[in-house]
Amino acid sequence: MIRQFELVEMVRAYNPNADEALLNRAYVYGARAHAAQKRASGEPYFGHPLEVAAILTGLKLDDATIVTALLHDTIEDTAATYAEITDLFGQEIAELVDGVTKLNKLELVNREAEQAENFRKLLLAMSRDVRVLLVKLADRTHNMRTIEALRPEKRARIARETMDIFAPLAGRMGMQRMREELEDLAFEVLNPEARTSIMRRFLKLRKETGDLIPRIKAAIEEALYEVGVPADVIGREKKPYSIWRKMEEKRIGFSQLSDIYGFRVITRDIPSCYAALGAVHTAMRVVPERMKDYISGPKSNGYRSLHTTVYGPAASRVEIQIRTREMHEVAETGVAAHWAYKEGRRSENPFAVDPFRWLSDLVERMEKGDQPKEFLEQVKLDMFHDQVFCFTPKGDVYGLPRGATPIDFAYAIHTRIGDSCVGAKVDGQRVPLWTRLRNGQSVEIIRVESSRPSPVWMDMAATGRARAAIRRALREDEREEHVRLGREIARLAFERRKLDGGEKALVSGARKLGFGSVEGLLAALGAAEITGRRLVAAVYPGMVESEEPAPEDASDRPHRLVLGAPPGLPFAFAECCEPIPGERVVGIRTGRGVEAHCIDCAALVAHEEHPERWVDLRWDEDAAQLGGRSASIDVTLANQAGALGAVATLIGEHRANIENISTLARMPDFWRLRVSVTVRDVKHMSAILSALEAQAIVTDVRRTRLPAPLPKAEGPKADVKAEAGPARRDLSA
Ligand code: MN
Repeated sequence: MIRQFELVEMVRAYNPNADEALLNRAYVYGARAHAAQKRASGEPYFGHPLEVAAILTGLKLDDATIVTALLHDTIEDTAATYAEITDLFGQEIAELVDGVTKLNKLELVNREAEQAENFRKLLLAMSRDVRVLLVKLADRTHNMRTIEALRPEKRARIARETMDIFAPLAGRMGMQRMREELEDLAFEVLNPEARTSIMRRFLKLRKETGDLIPRIKAAIEEALYEVGVPADVIGREKKPYSIWRKMEEKRIGFSQLSDIYGFRVITRDIPSCYAALGAVHTAMRVVPERMKDYISGPKSNGYRSLHTTVYGPAASRVEIQIRTREMHEVAETGVAAHWAYKEGRRSENPFAVDPFRWLSDLVERMEKGDQPKEFLEQVKLDMFHDQVFCFTPKGDVYGLPRGATPIDFAYAIHTRIGDSCVGAKVDGQRVPLWTRLRNGQSVEIIRVESSRPSPVWMDMAATGRARAAIRRALREDEREEHVRLGREIARLAFERRKLDGGEKALVSGARKLGFGSVEGLLAALGAAEITGRRLVAAVYPGMVESEEPAPEDASDRPHRLVLGAPPGLPFAFAECCEPIPGERVVGIRTGRGVEAHCIDCAALVAHEEHPERWVDLRWDEDAAQLGGRSASIDVTLANQAGALGAVATLIGEHRANIENISTLARMPDFWRLRVSVTVRDVKHMSAILSALEAQAIVTDVRRTRLPAPLPKAEGPKADVKAEAGPARRDLSA
């Protein structure tokens, strides 16, 4: 295990101004926190965070990152808390440790390519600070180096995840050295046979040609010496995994593979790069069309280098990359180069890419494929904060805009899932459908196959996809309802005139009125686009009275809604509780007639002692179709522009008429209204109530319940009386 002073020395080697006291405190704290724990290998657990820290010293990272590495497993695995770490090490480090802890909780189950891509985006989105990802990648690197200690199944799972997620992510971050190591370690677990066979081919080749690397290196060095360009030459065989991938991609065998040797020429400055290129091309034969100048035209991730391929000894093809020391650092360590220290100060490598730009650039390219440079200039820093990524229970990842709800998630999976959604669980907890989803949550959609979208959802959905699907479903439902209603209207219209209104009559009516189908005709009838009278007149010309009969007297309306009131007595609905169809109602006989109350109305208390006054009432089955009833809602909402409009729109979307709106109170920050609406029945009312409740601007909403109207206990109010009319025998029978 790395000892305390050794770690401090590793940091001081590149950053003599490092905060030694801080590093020492973190070492002691981490060692104590993990004291009782062992790794799978049986070694003390603290060895792991130490090695992770050591990997990051290799990238010459700042104190905060090294300390984060030492503490990265404490919140998750020990008694340490966020608050305690904030206290001891400050906000910056606590947030970094917390970030790593959050990444550790994510797990990808489904490994299809698209899912892996989404998962990488999720990791990026969750790492507001790139250093969180650097620690996570170092953590994974050390876990891969010690993977032998794990059980074989676990080994395979972790290696797969490394290959699919973390190695490409390291590549995306420009950290080629780490990417290669991760790939090769994973390759060894996932396909040991392939790796061994490639290693064997290397051995065989070396036997045939001798070790070519020193020979090629000497040839390049000599060429550089000739022109007097000082440079370091580094040569190597490519990693087995990158060889294997090339063989796979190009579907060729090892013997057909060129470029198994890679060389790097590291110069002091840019002119030397071009001088070195000239020297190499003079001394060795060039493979045509392999020259690339990424110095005058750097890649968008900041990569700069000259590439060329030449023929080396024994007909080998040799790939050569020529660049300066700073360019080399960026090429190897990518985004980490931004933090790298040199002689006690941030090295401020001129070629390092700003990590914020790097990340946003990265997310952008992952979204849209490669884009021209000008486009990247406009990329906003916080762009990936506009998105959330959530999991299905199976582990699929879906990216949604911020503010998305389970409804959006359901429609993102499939329209069928969205249409039949009735509820949702987020991280195992039942939540309302208007809940806003957060990054990394797992979302389970609860469905009932026969269920249909509610109009209320329009306000809960944040994605165009969900909104379009909901609108479509609502239109379908509405049409069905119109057709049903239209059929009833047609039946009544013919019946009233004692005419045959069978299918033949409807077919003829549809044709004469220019509808393509009977269904179209009925939908138009139901939507009140045409009247029953027009239909009858079209089918039986001359048989219909010229004038539509006068609308029925409104005075008999209450009796048409409620059955059981004694005939001949004036009847009215009580104003204190405003009963609506579907609620249990009871009639109270007073000196002036019968008044209907809700069964839970406070006014009934006054009549408890007089059972003779009570009359059993029930709603007409068609009460809802007959127009429903009006009732009031008390709404408290934020006093802000557009609030009232939003409430009115929402009620309108529910096809309820607003009869009146009055202000009960208006304060600087809230506004209390009483809204009187006509609703079909209690279900309609509760849909409106819950839709209002779902609005962010609405803080409270409830049915208006007036205190018992004691002064009027003896009878209905005057205006109510005026409405009451003679009973209609046919309906109250
Ligand atoms: Mn760890």
